[in-house]
Amino acid sequence: MDTVIIAIDGQASTGKSTQAKKLAENLKYDYRDSGAYYRAITLYFLDNNIKFDLNITDKILHKINIKQTYEEGQFRIYLNDYDVTDKIRGHKVSLNVSNFAKKKEIRKFVFNQLRKSSESNSLVVDGRDIGTVVFPNADFKFFLVGKPKIRAERRHKQINDDSVKVDIIEEEIKQRDKTDSTREIAPLKKAVDAFKIDVSNLTINEVFNKILQKIKSD
Ligand code: C5P
Repeated sequence: MDTVIIAIDGQASTGKSTQAKKLAENLKYDYRDSGAYYRAITLYFLDNNIKFDLNITDKILHKINIKQTYEEGQFRIYLNDYDVTDKIRGHKVSLNVSNFAKKKEIRKFVFNQLRKSSESNSLVVDGRDIGTVVFPNADFKFFLVGKPKIRAERRHKQINDDSVKVDIIEEEIKQRDKTDSTREIAPLKKAVDAFKIDVSNLTINEVFNKILQKIKSD
């Protein structure tokens, strides 16, 4: 059976995973959140006091076992059999993840996990380098961008915690985009054949309809 790969890349907090999950459900494909792998690895390293400037060896990475599931519209991620779905969204992980994601050994680890997942399943995958590096031959590629202020306001609403200021979120989002797009390996950038969508003035459903329309018209 031929499998289909749909890549949804883009800037931080543009709703990539929301769109990817909706799409996976609509098309009955499996879903992988590549950022969640980087977040789970970051959580492991923070919990074990491993600094990102340390040499990351295969011996260390072999201790990490990550599993993602997407069932009945519910995404879950397990780190060494612990459910870390909520924990990986924490502030500390968000602050550190882009530094760990620069490391080539870590990128290779995630690359291998994603490629393995695609062997027997049609997949929707969201991330930063899915259409450029992980699946350059993906059947459909999307690239989501948006104004930092609007993305920060949306994220702020989602977090629903008044002690976290929207300006701080905006700064963090900008910083993460900068680190992701200027790194040496697999930087965040639009694949030449990706369909770009600016989500700033669109609702979730409007973005979704654009994505579906594009898939159905190709
Ligand atoms: O998608 P999310 O915001 O959860 O990703 C967290 C971080 O993981 C990104 O800011 C980026 O540093 C890294 N990442 C990456 N490549 C991907 C997906 C995520 O480098 N394909």
